[in-house]
Amino acid sequence: MIELFFPEAAQLVIEDVQMLGEKLYTYARGRSVTAKCPVCQTQSDKTHSRYQRHPQDLPCFGFRVQLHIIVRRFFCQNDRCGRLTFAETFPELLGYKARRTQRLSRQQLTVAFAVSGESGRCLLSSLAMPLSGDSLIRDIRRAPGEKMVTPRVLGIDDWAQRRGHTYGTILVDLESRQPVDLLNSREAEDVTAWLKQHPGVEIISRDRGHDYAKAASDGAPTAQQVADRWHLLKNLREAVATMLSHQPAALAAAAEVDEGEEVGNGDTKDIEGGQTTVTAESIEAISASVQQPTTKAERDQAARHARRQARFEMIKQLHKKGYSNRAIGRHLGMSPRTVRKCIEADVCPQYSTGRVRPSKLTPWLPYLEERWQAGYTNANQLWREIEAQGFAGSRGLVSRWAAKERKLLPQSTQYVANNRGKCAPN
Ligand SMILES: [Zn+2]
Repeated sequence: MIELFFPEAAQLVIEDVQMLGEKLYTYARGRSVTAKCPVCQTQSDKTHSRYQRHPQDLPCFGFRVQLHIIVRRFFCQNDRCGRLTFAETFPELLGYKARRTQRLSRQQLTVAFAVSGESGRCLLSSLAMPLSGDSLIRDIRRAPGEKMVTPRVLGIDDWAQRRGHTYGTILVDLESRQPVDLLNSREAEDVTAWLKQHPGVEIISRDRGHDYAKAASDGAPTAQQVADRWHLLKNLREAVATMLSHQPAALAAAAEVDEGEEVGNGDTKDIEGGQTTVTAESIEAISASVQQPTTKAERDQAARHARRQARFEMIKQLHKKGYSNRAIGRHLGMSPRTVRKCIEADVCPQYSTGRVRPSKLTPWLPYLEERWQAGYTNANQLWREIEAQGFAGSRGLVSRWAAKERKLLPQSTQYVANNRGKCAPN
């Protein structure tokens, strides 16, 4: 009856089964009287010696099962074979030197893949198939991976090995939503090489950076490149923010419509809706009075200035009408303290544009600028140079400075600089 549990080509004869404590001990020996030499394939029936193996097996009725197998060692009877002796094997049941049967290992591996190391250890312990978490992880690492099929729709993005320090590239099959590969670098050449080794990608979803665009063009020239959803939304948000920053009057008008809903919270004297008609006109007047800006940065700055000035005038007007600082603050979404500062000031407080706070990098700026002008735009290299001279700041400080400088370069040279500099996140 117990032999029903050993259907593996009936290689074993079960001789005894004993229950000791919580464990079922199964004593067995090889069924065949001969065995084949693994070198010359000659059958031999001349026994040299016997020894025991004690592998764990699948549990039975909730009890752990341990096999005691008597294994015979045979003489090779082929005079021309270099092997003198060999042991009989049970390849269907037990691997070479294995301490677990193959069927037990398969079950444990299934659990390891489902719940991973430590959770797997707890689960397997209660299933009478105990194994340490480390062994489960080792099994996962040894398990042969599924053969990767080149995805039709491929997603490419950065992947942080150590966030802020080391980045690689993650490649994801966007149809099965499974990662297909991790590259240790995000260099365009490495991604290009991968794409050339895996032809057949039809659509590549990527970020807005130049590196992956170049890699996709070089490695899979026939594939269609699309921006991924996150970057599309980022593009949209930035475009809307830029557009709205140029329409201060429209923003103020929209804010006025909402006034009736926002005020009236029961302070001693709240602001009634529709009374503060100063905003739209004043913003337009302010915008018109400011010298016409030319660059985008100047236009943005002028818009911000106009918004601050209009708000300042509104605070003054409401204060004159007798509203409390708190009511004004609630109405405009400012703290009462900021409202008080505005009321006490004669002119609208402005922040100087070039508020440069001294940093650890400040003393090194002349040197860096000189090197930059000479064409050395690799932030890492620059950091190493000044570090050797005594700079105690981080590599990121230099990277951020370089990124700012790079934005000032003409569009056509930005890509080259980006490639050399390697510090733009996208
Ligand atoms: Zn042999």
